[in-house]
Amino acid sequence: MTSNDRVVVIGSGLAGVRLARRLGELGTPVTLIGEEEHRPYNRVLLAEVLAGRYSPEVIALPAPAELTRARVTGVDRAARTVTCADGSVTGYGRLVLATGSNPVLPPLRGLFTADHELPEGVHAFRTMDDCLGLAKAVRPGVRAVVIGGGLLGVSAARALAERGAQVVLAQQSERLMERQLDPAASRLVGRHLTGLGVEVHTECRVRDVRCVAGAVRSVEMADGYALDADLVVLACGVHPRVGLAQAAGLDVRKGVVVDDELRTSDPYVHAIGDCVQHAGTVYGLAAPALEQADALAALLAGDTAARYTGTRSLTRLTLTGPGGPFGPLDLAAFGETEALPGDDVVQLTDATRGTYRKVVVRDDRLVGGVLVGELGTVGALARAWEGAEPLPSAGGPLLHLLTHDGGS
Ligand SMILES: Cc1cc2nc3c(=O)[nH]c(=O)nc-3n(C[C@H](O)[C@H](O)[C@H](O)COP(=O)(O)OP(=O)(O)OC[C@H]3O[C@@H](n4cnc5c(N)ncnc54)[C@H](O)[C@@H]3O)c2cc1C
Repeated sequence: MTSNDRVVVIGSGLAGVRLARRLGELGTPVTLIGEEEHRPYNRVLLAEVLAGRYSPEVIALPAPAELTRARVTGVDRAARTVTCADGSVTGYGRLVLATGSNPVLPPLRGLFTADHELPEGVHAFRTMDDCLGLAKAVRPGVRAVVIGGGLLGVSAARALAERGAQVVLAQQSERLMERQLDPAASRLVGRHLTGLGVEVHTECRVRDVRCVAGAVRSVEMADGYALDADLVVLACGVHPRVGLAQAAGLDVRKGVVVDDELRTSDPYVHAIGDCVQHAGTVYGLAAPALEQADALAALLAGDTAARYTGTRSLTRLTLTGPGGPFGPLDLAAFGETEALPGDDVVQLTDATRGTYRKVVVRDDRLVGGVLVGELGTVGALARAWEGAEPLPSAGGPLLHLLTHDGGS
């Protein structure tokens, strides 16, 4: 096999592993290069490992045949080679960047030590190493501050509370998971976390990280209020990991720019997953990463008609709890969850059971919805949304959508 036939994939996360496995099944030679020393794993389930619910082995992905553990440090597009940190050079016929995202490190005073490291006790929450580091540090009574109240921060706070930590969640904006949820659903998530013992502060900006002898001791809010902390989790979002693509001179905006064939500005270099920007969108979610991997596998294996045209992505999250009134809280959200003037909205709330369902319809088309606590209709709703077909008429059929699962 010459290096010209070989597909080299950089990054053994969800997208890279899926692509390598699909290509292997289709008989296309592939080399997967990943820097993490652990067996490839499903990042979406890290909070379950942190909560002590799953062991790392449980979230391992089925391993592809050939996996090189190394960090790629450079791409030479003229020579069609990649160079790794250990000095090894690998030739490619096609190169695929599946380098994922980096956590956003917020501009807090005192966040870095003199050696540009995070202080002891301060952790990002992106990798298995982050997760194992946190799991080692958490024990009953530990004071933990989670900075950020998006999906990641909510998952981390819940997991730490389950491990017995005294958790404070500091969210800069006015509500939790604002990218996915409407205000009513955000309130239910807040109530669930409070029930688990988490102290939730919204409109609360952390300004400073205070350390003694290189270890975190407290965080200070913008209003001067200080919170003692043994552990700090940074959950302030992610940005596409584009350093290699930039250094190689590829077109990079928010992410590595790709077309419907998942090709970058170099036709021999493709990109998939969190690192890409397709049709102006950077998803940062698992479902688009997997769909892109499947489309690219088909293309690289010779299906010239295969295309990726975007993902209408549904976000799902289960916040498990110790049981009783604080048992699991299931959430699903898709599209636009807040109505514009003129939209039709159907909403069902059951305060006793803590359930909430809402759909938003515009011009007879379902444009978004949110379900909390009662997900029986999620399959039917997702199909109606993904199909973007006109609904028969507003009113009755909408209520039907919210209350009947259509056999899903
Ligand atoms: C705790 C947590 C919970 C999440 N929950 C959800 C959820 O509920 N739903 C959802 O849709 N999404 C969720 N996500 C997001 C989801 O995990 C990502 O969208 C998905 O992992 C993207 O896959 P990827 O392969 O593009 O990137 P990644 O999974 O990040 O994999 C990229 C890999 O490339 C490696 N790499 C990067 N550069 C190099 C290099 N130069 N050399 C070698 N290797 C390199 C990285 O080390 C990494 O292993 C969650 C993420 C986290 C962290």
